[in-house]
Amino acid sequence: MKWAHVEDDNREGRDRIGLFLGALLTRLSLAVLVTAVCFAGSCSGDGRQNGRSGGEKDAASGSPGAFVRVLGTVQDGGLPHAACTCSHCEAARHDPARRRWVACLAVCFPSEGRALLIDATPDIRTQLDQVRDVGQHPNGRTDRHPVDGVLLTHAHIGHLIGLGFFGFEAVHTKDLPVFCTPRMAMFLRSNGPWDLLVQRREIVLREQQPGASFPVGPGVTATSLAVPHRDEHSDTVGYLLRGPRASLLYVPDTDSWRAWTRPLPQVLEGVDVAILDGTFYSANELPGRDISEVRHPLMTETMTLLGPLVRSGRTRVFFTHLNHSNPALDARGKEIRAMEGHGFHVLEEGQEFAL
Ligand SMILES: [Zn+2]
Ligand SMILES: [Zn+2]
Ligand SMILES: [Zn+2]
Repeated sequence: MKWAHVEDDNREGRDRIGLFLGALLTRLSLAVLVTAVCFAGSCSGDGRQNGRSGGEKDAASGSPGAFVRVLGTVQDGGLPHAACTCSHCEAARHDPARRRWVACLAVCFPSEGRALLIDATPDIRTQLDQVRDVGQHPNGRTDRHPVDGVLLTHAHIGHLIGLGFFGFEAVHTKDLPVFCTPRMAMFLRSNGPWDLLVQRREIVLREQQPGASFPVGPGVTATSLAVPHRDEHSDTVGYLLRGPRASLLYVPDTDSWRAWTRPLPQVLEGVDVAILDGTFYSANELPGRDISEVRHPLMTETMTLLGPLVRSGRTRVFFTHLNHSNPALDARGKEIRAMEGHGFHVLEEGQEFAL
């Protein structure tokens, strides 16, 4: 079964199974969990084809290696989008299995019981639950250490606002590392409510200049990558994750590739998996709008640009951060069939990629 055509109710079942088992099992039994869930065709069984199962054994070490787990795939406003009654939003409202969470990844280290988030979204409460199977957590009370760090891309609400849940009113973490650019760090230190998180040491800012590489866990480094975007409050970065098994580039939110100083195919050289901004599918999606005003790259443009690279098999490309209007959200639509025909994919929540 191709993962992009996995029925939504399968996805919901997968989530339920994952959360239930995750609550029961410790990290020592993670390998058992992964095996069991994958045999049930429920975890990244679809990922076996396009993403690999992150929990698969690392041949070199005999232990489960690091992996990325997808926790959310839509634009900041979510699906259903706040206050929208378009057909996608109404369908998601009436059938919760069709809803999607705001774009977010977890970088997981099952052997160490560690997980870091990339971005802190409005859906963070659910997304913290989705990594509970990685690591040990106390029963019967709030876990003050639900994750081991957060890497922020930028200050727009869908990428930042969840950080507030680490504050006094909710989780009340202690010294949670937050990796971000110096400009983003300045924004957080200088503006409420974020400044209180810093003053109370609920979070500790780990400033990284765009272009810097830093370790995020055993054997895995992150390199931040300057991204052109509407930079009102902060600059914007993407992250290139490099592990012993694979590399993965995450750029969920960007201006057109034409605004990049390096051509995208060059940026993707040597990258195994690219997870890219898929906010809008094509100009047809935006009737009455001047296409030159739309800053996001259109999926159709990205596919044209990356066609040769994808056909060569050197890089697999997945789209995330889909706007609620995007026709590629329709699993039976002609757009997704066309995409898949060209070797491109819409990212699925629960999907995992080995690092
Ligand atoms: Zn966004
Ligand atoms: Zn809508
Ligand atoms: Zn943004």
